[in-house]
Amino acid sequence: MKSIQKPIVIVGAGFAGMTFALNLKNLNPSLPILVVDSESSFIFKPLMYEVLSKEIRSWEATPKFANIFSDVGITFLKNCLTKVCFKENMLEFSDELKLSFQYLVICTGSIPNSFSTKGVEENCYFFNDFHDLNQLKSFLIKSQKTSFHKKLFIVGGGPSGVELACKIKDIFKDQFEIHIIEKSNEILNRNKIFNREQSEKALEKRKINVLLNSTVQEVSETKIIISNEGGITSLDKDIVIWTAGVKPNLSYLKTDEITKKFGRVLVNNNLQIENHENCFAIGDIAIIEGMEDLPITAQVAMQEGSHLAKNLGLLIQEKDPLPFEFQDNGEMISLGIGEASISGIGVTLSGKLAYEARRLIYASKLPNITESLKSASSWIFQKKSIFRKFFKKDSSN
Ligand SMILES: Cc1cc2nc3c(=O)[nH]c(=O)nc-3n(C[C@H](O)[C@H](O)[C@H](O)COP(=O)(O)OP(=O)(O)OC[C@H]3O[C@@H](n4cnc5c(N)ncnc54)[C@H](O)[C@@H]3O)c2cc1C
Repeated sequence: MKSIQKPIVIVGAGFAGMTFALNLKNLNPSLPILVVDSESSFIFKPLMYEVLSKEIRSWEATPKFANIFSDVGITFLKNCLTKVCFKENMLEFSDELKLSFQYLVICTGSIPNSFSTKGVEENCYFFNDFHDLNQLKSFLIKSQKTSFHKKLFIVGGGPSGVELACKIKDIFKDQFEIHIIEKSNEILNRNKIFNREQSEKALEKRKINVLLNSTVQEVSETKIIISNEGGITSLDKDIVIWTAGVKPNLSYLKTDEITKKFGRVLVNNNLQIENHENCFAIGDIAIIEGMEDLPITAQVAMQEGSHLAKNLGLLIQEKDPLPFEFQDNGEMISLGIGEASISGIGVTLSGKLAYEARRLIYASKLPNITESLKSASSWIFQKKSIFRKFFKKDSSN
């Protein structure tokens, strides 16, 4: 067993970092673990649509890190990582704090990717964190008080775009004329067929217009410019929400100090960063050599977190680590108020039952977070018996 003099530092306490920290502490209670995050609360991103629609209250989806970690004896520090000095095993933070580590796990998630499209940063809304959610929400509420049929464009026909479109339609009814713009020839082109079909029905039912094979060229203050087979079209817009893609949040890494692939940190199948055996990357920022096609989801992030916790325990005991394997537990999509679609874990389910199951599955995801969700969402648990078959302690979505 190696002796641990400096802490195991985890930077980023989202789905990957949180799962890793809690599992590591559970498996090895005596290890010194320090978790650092630039925010004070965890954000359960898949429930942001329900926060927008007020189906759940914002604090239910954002439990405080201090509460989660102090309960289990993990030290939490709120700070923003600005630099990693790999040679010195040292971290630098925005308030000039320097911290040395024995092992480092970086998992700082994603930020929206505008793909350098002209005008996007200045003229679009995003939906990636609570700051985005609050900005969007106040704009939508403000516009509600003015005229009807405001033109709302959502760029990107992936899960975020589709889920957001259905929710906004259900909340604001005919206040907005909603259009989804998708570059490829179908929506949800990387998702399960069942969920795609259910989503198409949900969009049709809500009269949400979908423009396929269309690429956004520019967004100005008043227009959105789209190119497709028919040429270039400039359309009037009131609001554009950009959900067309994400990129890894890695501003604290210098370009030449680690190997990247598709902009993400390249790790081996033990989740170790190349040439830095005591450093690991997990979650959205990481790409595993030979497993480049894994989706960028909370499900993958959580499985990586829990695998790395076992592996680090093995490494500390000077045993060989085990290669990561992904288990596809299916996917769930929220489709408007009170509706969802689930495909996987041995079932396909849509409508209200899928909605209830989705919330229940999310509430069961992270044991320590569950406590805060449980207390506020006791109604979900009243229905627990109906959904027993969906409970799978180690599964994640
Ligand atoms: C609206 C929305 C809905 C989604 N729905 C689903 C879904 O239904 N199913 C699914 O599987 N996935 C879903 N996802 C994707 C999923 O949320 C991400 O894949 C997942 O959060 C990635 O986990 P992570 O730990 O890598 O990053 P995150 O969960 O984003 O956590 C990153 C953490 O790092 C912190 N951080 C960032 N930079 C720094 C820094 N410099 N210093 C310190 N801390 C820092 C952040 O504050 C954050 O707490 C959704 C995403 C969004 C935006």
